[in-house]
Amino acid sequence: MSDVTIIGGGIIGICTGIALLEEGLSVEIIDRGSATEGASYGNCGLLAAGEIVPISRPGTLKKIPGWLSDPEGPLFVRPKQMFSQMPWLLRFLWAGRRSRVLEIAAAMAPLTRDAANDYRDLFAKVGIEDNLVPAENIFAFNSKSDYEADAFAREIRSRHGFSTRYVGKEELRQLEPALGGPIECAAIMGGWLQFSDPGLARDRLMQFFRKQGGSVRQGSAQRIETDGSKAVAVHLESGERLPIARLVVCAGAWSGKLVKSLGLNVPVAALQGYHHHLPKPEVKLNRAVLYANGGFVLTSMESGLRIGGTIEIAGLDPVPNFKRADLIARKATAVLPGLDTSGGTQWMGPRPFMPDTLPVIDTAPNHANVTLAFGHGQVGMTLGATTAKLVSSLITGRRPAIPLSPYRVTRFA
Ligand SMILES: Cc1cc2nc3c(=O)[nH]c(=O)nc-3n(C[C@H](O)[C@H](O)[C@H](O)COP(=O)(O)OP(=O)(O)OC[C@H]3O[C@@H](n4cnc5c(N)ncnc54)[C@H](O)[C@@H]3O)c2cc1C
Repeated sequence: MSDVTIIGGGIIGICTGIALLEEGLSVEIIDRGSATEGASYGNCGLLAAGEIVPISRPGTLKKIPGWLSDPEGPLFVRPKQMFSQMPWLLRFLWAGRRSRVLEIAAAMAPLTRDAANDYRDLFAKVGIEDNLVPAENIFAFNSKSDYEADAFAREIRSRHGFSTRYVGKEELRQLEPALGGPIECAAIMGGWLQFSDPGLARDRLMQFFRKQGGSVRQGSAQRIETDGSKAVAVHLESGERLPIARLVVCAGAWSGKLVKSLGLNVPVAALQGYHHHLPKPEVKLNRAVLYANGGFVLTSMESGLRIGGTIEIAGLDPVPNFKRADLIARKATAVLPGLDTSGGTQWMGPRPFMPDTLPVIDTAPNHANVTLAFGHGQVGMTLGATTAKLVSSLITGRRPAIPLSPYRVTRFA
């Protein structure tokens, strides 16, 4: 039996596995084994340290009816999910009140602050420093009034040290000649990093984990067996019962289902996102473009241009609706007039999302040998290395580098 068993081999699980090996512990990761299934494979690859403002904000409520009735809107709820997801949606909207948004950003900022350094350290150990590249980010808008409408978020970011610079149409065209169409202005944030390819980074970290002595078991965890105040085994779909000493649950959007066997009812929703990845886009972007009007992000990666984004509430393991990937590809051609969308690949994966956007990083309340690390929303790729350090502190009994109370699992109980 390993000292620690981890359920989930996405970016959070793998970074955690490596951190725990470094503590001298033996570690086994259980993962379903489909490398492209989790969000860590297909995300937009931004090390988004400044992304501290939740999606739900003052004013979001007004937009919801329009979004919900428009299958081409940036957020869509499949009609069959509307009833079951209503409690989550209401909590999400409630978390968007001004005072709570300020608290959420203040809780997110210390998490993202060290993300770049934590990854630099980790990637240097692994020998994959070239998987992180400098990136300026462009928050692009169709009009000055859309830019003005984002002032609240900009002000919060800048309060936490993530300032932006306004650029008008002309300067934007000089910086990014490929950008065109309806985009009129932008806010540029410097000093960010991005992953040259997030899926590749995850695979290389997994190889390193194995090389360092970590073991990986392919299997689907169905249930956690408990005995009073301890978790004692993980039951796999295959019928196997794996005894455990310590458990870390890092199963992304699937974590809520698993922790039910610990008596926990955690509102972690699967917000499905899509990408359309183009190996030969025929246009070049020097910076990542976050385009709120279109509900997608454009990121140049090692293997081509990724158009990623949109939110679809469709349940945990839905049949993909690749019309949403077609949609963002079509919208991208409007802002990148020379874009060739032929020959692309499409993907869907779930952002593990708590109603308040903050992750869960905590010890299970009634089972002291279980650590929870999931629900990282739209910044899980960013927070892999930092979360691993915090989980490591919880397991070894060291004082965590930051107070973990904002990320406690019972905050919605
Ligand atoms: C379109 C899109 C764009 C995004 N862009 C960015 C970005 O630019 N920057 C950023 O920081 N974040 C981004 N994100 C968010 C980020 O990808 C996620 O927050 C992050 O990948 C979550 O990592 P994770 O390890 O928690 O979960 P996952 O990557 O989903 O991994 C969970 C793993 O657990 C396994 N698993 C699940 N259930 C079980 C089980 N029962 N038994 C065994 N194994 C199981 C799954 O197979 C999977 O491998 C984006 C997400 C999407 C969808």
